[in-house]
Amino acid sequence: MLYVSTRGGCGPVTASKAILEGIAPDGGLYTPSEIPKISDELLKKLCKADYCGRAAEILSLFLTDYTREELENSVKSAYADFDHPEKAPLVKLDEGKYVLELFHGPTCAFKDMALQLLPYLMTLAIRKNGGDDRICILVATSGDTGKAALEGFKDVEGTSIIVFYPRDGVSAVQRRQMTTQKGENVFVCAVKGNFDDAQTGVKTIFGDADFAAELAEKGVRLSSANSINWGRLVPQIVYYVSAYCDLVNSGAVEMGETVDVSVPTGNFGDILAAFYAMRMGVPIGRLICASNKNNVLTDFINTGVYDSNRPFFLTSSPSMDILISSNVERLLFELSGHDGEGTARYMKALKSEGKYTLAPELFASMKEIFAAGCADDDEVITEIRHNKLELGYLTDPHTAVASKVACELCGDPVCLIVSTASPYKFCGTVLKALTNEDQPDSVTLFEKLETLTDTAAPKPLKDVVNAKERFNGVTEKSELKSEVRRFIDSQTGGR
Ligand SMILES: *Cc1c(COP(=O)(O)O)cnc(C)c1O
Repeated sequence: MLYVSTRGGCGPVTASKAILEGIAPDGGLYTPSEIPKISDELLKKLCKADYCGRAAEILSLFLTDYTREELENSVKSAYADFDHPEKAPLVKLDEGKYVLELFHGPTCAFKDMALQLLPYLMTLAIRKNGGDDRICILVATSGDTGKAALEGFKDVEGTSIIVFYPRDGVSAVQRRQMTTQKGENVFVCAVKGNFDDAQTGVKTIFGDADFAAELAEKGVRLSSANSINWGRLVPQIVYYVSAYCDLVNSGAVEMGETVDVSVPTGNFGDILAAFYAMRMGVPIGRLICASNKNNVLTDFINTGVYDSNRPFFLTSSPSMDILISSNVERLLFELSGHDGEGTARYMKALKSEGKYTLAPELFASMKEIFAAGCADDDEVITEIRHNKLELGYLTDPHTAVASKVACELCGDPVCLIVSTASPYKFCGTVLKALTNEDQPDSVTLFEKLETLTDTAAPKPLKDVVNAKERFNGVTEKSELKSEVRRFIDSQTGGR
């Protein structure tokens, strides 16, 4: 299996090379040249396996230059510390509604599903592709990726990691998780701007050939842990396959019966993984794209016009406060039958005009697969309250967006609602929903929520409250490159 760029200018390359590079040299995203199929027999076999067994099987279909043994060992180590034996358990919320809990990793958000594994895949990729360059992972985060990537890569030999987060765009717990990060190879910095500013700044650095040459002199190569890296997406395909198996095993669906999937969406990585699972043959009916008040994707899926020229809102689901969703690029490439030139044209228009309109055939094929809706902060509060008081289930604000939109748009008898974060990451909003009182966004609310709901805050979140703050720097969005240079020099002794 080889990987090609969505803009048609690079590749094919091996899986390990695609993971090592993170983003293709032409600015496009590496995408598998074909989508492997899961036969009925294989799906039945996977139903009998545990999460790690399912993961090794699915990964081996995409990452063909890794050995089966390498994948099995990587998966086992990656998911060893999850606080639930099933890793990604399914919880029944209501008749025909199931929640897929993806927050049982060390940073309590779904990003762990991929970012606990990526460092293993990356270390193997370095070995497979020769060279002894230090890999410097450069991350822009809307809140959860940063911490998950830091935890995954901290003190991993041969790597360093730099995380930029929007100064006013993350929750108090999210910020604290990052600023207290331990490890000798890590650096965290706030940016005066929003997530799109941080992501654009990071993408510009990736595209800077002179800077790449300067770093090469120092024995350093940049790579990405954002969902532009294929190594981030492929582990996410696994949990859709796994969830389907669990639905079959529990008797919620008959083998072959379709289910709808509702995904709280920001950068479009999570829902794109569901799209790949569907294309592989997992019986998924509709993909429901759920957005918060930053509903650029709702409009895109419903009208075929992607228009990022609109106000940017800070919401109670900060990890979805995004107007430029990177992984839509892979969707366009797939829906157009791998038309690199066409995809490049759309992306060029997005960059210069902030906007593009899909060709009618492309819009039609997107409409066949996707439905889209959005929920604002008030609706999120109502949904969290409803889920807790009526159904006895505690939901974080991101999951509440997906749960609310699922109620409106689910067409199949069974709907899978993807739960992306622990409610304890967003105590302020969750407490407000349950008590009707405004709460300050602070890291000191855990106990209040514990007492009120008779649940326990995850230990890793409690630990950050008293941890020492290491990184309180703030930078201008024009200064990201100098921050990167300064940190890399400190890591390499300026050689
Ligand atoms: C990242 C994130 C999302 C959005 O996922 P995308 O892959 O960016 O669409 C939703 N919820 C939470 C809690 C997240 O951390």
